[in-house]
Amino acid sequence: MNYGYLAYPDLPDDAVHVLPLGAVEPHGPHAPLVTDTLISIGVSHRAAERLAGEIPVLVLPPVHYGVTRYAAAFPGTVSIGEDTLRALVAEIAESVGTLVLVNSHFEPEQVATLRATGLPLLDLTRRAKAERLTEEFRSGSCHAGRYETSLVLADRPELVDADRMLALPELHVDMPAAIRAGRTDFVAMGMDEAYCGAPAEASAEEGRETFETLTDMLIELIREVAA
Ligand SMILES: [Zn+2]
Repeated sequence: MNYGYLAYPDLPDDAVHVLPLGAVEPHGPHAPLVTDTLISIGVSHRAAERLAGEIPVLVLPPVHYGVTRYAAAFPGTVSIGEDTLRALVAEIAESVGTLVLVNSHFEPEQVATLRATGLPLLDLTRRAKAERLTEEFRSGSCHAGRYETSLVLADRPELVDADRMLALPELHVDMPAAIRAGRTDFVAMGMDEAYCGAPAEASAEEGRETFETLTDMLIELIREVAA
């Protein structure tokens, strides 16, 4: 299931390949820089596991780097441009054949670039998908908040600084509205510590539940692609 861990004779010829995508950017003072990629990896492996015996799914080594300019004011941000991301994803698709993209970094330029590849994409910014997710996610106040932190707690709790997380006050920022209003960085959006939402309310249990919902959506997409 883990593409990078296989030897070449063990690769099935009819596999659907899944590429986890994210960003390297600050996620509050409490959560890891690669939070988004960790979420994509978690969904991808769960979907591959659940589809075992039905559809061979291989999870490719992830693309951690994404288009991430909003976080530029903070240390830890490593951004690539749209052309680089587009070329990287397109060339990976050429190499492997059937490819599904799983993205958990929602900066508009990242999402637009991935959509423009024309490849099948688990696009959680689509209303029909977002409606199935938690209230915080739907509110748009969800960078390193309860939604994302819960997902990290479910899979990699050792990467969350619990003391810092519990000390963070809830901070409501309607990110889609702020973006529409022309604010292009976290500080201008009022996110002085690179988070919004309610990270102190995060739990591994909520993360596991959200992972199940995300996995359902990815499985639906993989089945469509494989059909
Ligand atoms: Zn994130």
